[in-house]
Amino acid sequence: MDEADVQQRARSFIAPLDLRNIRDDLSVYLNAANAILRKEEMEVGESGTTLTRPDGKHIITVNSCEPSERQRYTICHESAHVILGLSSSHDGVPSWSYVKRHPNEIACDWFAAELLMPYKQWLAAVPKEEPSVAVIKFMASEFGCSYPAAASRYATLSALPCAFVTMECGTVRYAARSTALRRVKAWISPRMPIPQGSVAYRLRTDGQSQIDTDIVAQDIWFQEWESGLDLNEICRHYQSSDTTTSLLWFEEEILPKYEFDRFGRRVEEDEDLAELTGDLPWPGKRRRR
Ligand SMILES: [Zn+2]
Repeated sequence: MDEADVQQRARSFIAPLDLRNIRDDLSVYLNAANAILRKEEMEVGESGTTLTRPDGKHIITVNSCEPSERQRYTICHESAHVILGLSSSHDGVPSWSYVKRHPNEIACDWFAAELLMPYKQWLAAVPKEEPSVAVIKFMASEFGCSYPAAASRYATLSALPCAFVTMECGTVRYAARSTALRRVKAWISPRMPIPQGSVAYRLRTDGQSQIDTDIVAQDIWFQEWESGLDLNEICRHYQSSDTTTSLLWFEEEILPKYEFDRFGRRVEEDEDLAELTGDLPWPGKRRRR
C-alpha cells in the first residue's frame, strides 16, 4: 500500500462523514470505525493500543499522560489500524520516530494525517501568505495537532514547491514533498546526514531547542538537480529527542518549469517548446544572493 493508495482509502472513508466538529471531537471517526475510546495512564513513550472484543467492537486506548494534540493523533492512528485492517507493530519504537518503523505504522501515519487534517478543510483554512512559523503554528492550532504534523501536512498540500524534512540524531529520516516539487524530481535522500550549511545543521550543532529561518543555497538540500537558486528554510530543533525539522520552500516564480530526470537532465516536452517566448525561463530571475 503506497501513500497514494492510503490517501485514497482515507478520503473515501471521510467523504460521507460530518467533519464540522473534528477540531474538538473525533468521535465521528471512532463511530465509523466501530470503536470506543478509553484514556488511561500508560508508560512513557507508549501512545496507544487497540483491542478487539469478541463482539467486534474495537477498544482504542490512548495515553492520558501525553499532550492533547498527541492523543488526537493517536486516536486517528489507531483508527487507521482498524479501518485499514493493519496489525500494530509498535514494538516500543517511539511513535514520533521513523527509525525502523514498520510499513504498517507508516501507512497508519499517512492515514492519520488525512483524518486529523482533512484536505478540504485544510485548503479552506490555510493562509494564502508565505510559509512561516506563524502560519504553521496557526494551522496546528486550527487542527489541534503538533507543529511537525502541521508542517508536514503543509508541505504535502502546498501549491508551492515545498518540502518538510524530519531528521533524527543528525540523519534525514523522511521528507514530504509538495506536488510541484515531486513533479520536478527534487529529491532529498533518506538516511543522509543533515547537510552542512543548512539551518538544521547549525541549530543542531548549537545543541538547544530553537527555531530559526534563513535563505540557503538550494543545492545544500537537493542533489542531482539544478543548482544556484535560493531556498527558504524554516527549521525547528527539539533537543530532548534530538529531532530536527525543516520546512523548505521556493518562491513560486523560481520553480523550474521543466521536469528533470534523476540525473538532473531536463526532460524535453513538445508542450514547452510551443510556449517559448524568447525569455529564458531557466535559470530563473532570482539567482542565489
Ligand atoms: Zn500503530
